[in-house]
Amino acid sequence: MKSWKDNLRTIEPYIPGEQPDLPDMVKLNTNENPYPPSPRVIQAIKEFDAGSLRLYPDPSSKVLADAIAKTYNINNNQVFTGVGSDDVLAIAFMTFFNSNKPILFPDITYSFYDVWARLFGIPYIRPALDGSFHINAKDYYRENGGVVISNPNAPTGVCQSIDFLRDIIEHNRDVVVIIDEAYIDFSGKSALFLTKEYDNVLIIQTCSKSRSLAGMRIGYAMGNLELIKAMDDVRFSFNSYPMTRLSVAAGAAAMQDTAYFTETTDKIIKTREWTKKELKRLGFTFADSETNFIFATHQSVNATIIFNKLKEKHIFVRHFNAPRIDNYLRISIGTQEEMKYFISELEKIITDQ
Ligand SMILES: *Cc1c(COP(=O)(O)O)cnc(C)c1O
Repeated sequence: MKSWKDNLRTIEPYIPGEQPDLPDMVKLNTNENPYPPSPRVIQAIKEFDAGSLRLYPDPSSKVLADAIAKTYNINNNQVFTGVGSDDVLAIAFMTFFNSNKPILFPDITYSFYDVWARLFGIPYIRPALDGSFHINAKDYYRENGGVVISNPNAPTGVCQSIDFLRDIIEHNRDVVVIIDEAYIDFSGKSALFLTKEYDNVLIIQTCSKSRSLAGMRIGYAMGNLELIKAMDDVRFSFNSYPMTRLSVAAGAAAMQDTAYFTETTDKIIKTREWTKKELKRLGFTFADSETNFIFATHQSVNATIIFNKLKEKHIFVRHFNAPRIDNYLRISIGTQEEMKYFISELEKIITDQ
């Protein structure tokens, strides 16, 4: 037995959705935006000075932090940027969850949270969502080392109200409460304003979904400057140049194009509402979604069967082999044309069973 094997850090990793590359595929499995990034992003990349890449980027990513601050009407020292919100969340876990009390997040939520908790040795408890996939607030009144809530939640699509979040925060003034708003632009109910009232609330958002930049890897946290400073200190003890010059330029351009952002987000919401009606007609049920995906189960046909039949037709959706949700499919919202094609193929599969 080689002795180095005794000292390995072993961990069961997060499993991302597959990234097939077929010319005719309809890809509805990783909640990407079906529309390209803003024309201003494309222009910024075309005009980008590649020669500047010999230089390290600005460690504070000021141009991007300024663009985010301006968008949300906050100061740039209230913004922390990272390589996707996955990076931002990981740094937040490392920075804020250092007590020996367990952190709390639901049993059904973003499946990266428990991976980070295990990686960093943070104890955690996952109170069960109720039968309609809502959080029971009382589960979060107990003593804990921190709270993480994805709102709207993934993969359920359920959005809890601001009053609900306020109640959870009121019961947790001594720990950091992270609200992961990866999908908030499809619901319009951001809790960002609560960061002005509560110094222990951190809001995390991403350019991956509503701003069509999943491939560029840009995420950000917003909160009071002490929270942000603490995260910066951890960040600069780990990697001092996380954001590339190109991602800063592209991200800033994306934040500045509000008109395009509104137009594409509205289109996705409209298609989502159309898809809900069609899924109901075909016998699916689901909690009401306020995201760019629908988490649905069929009254008689098994999810795995549907998943495999769709895959044969090069239509990719997401299936989680986990307790309570293994008969559900998470269907990302594509363009209206993609969803029409998806529904027509789905209808054939359902009627064949
Ligand atoms: C997609 C997603 C993220 C991470 O997205 P990034 O691409 O890393 O910004 C974080 N949280 C939730 C709930 C998500 O669904």
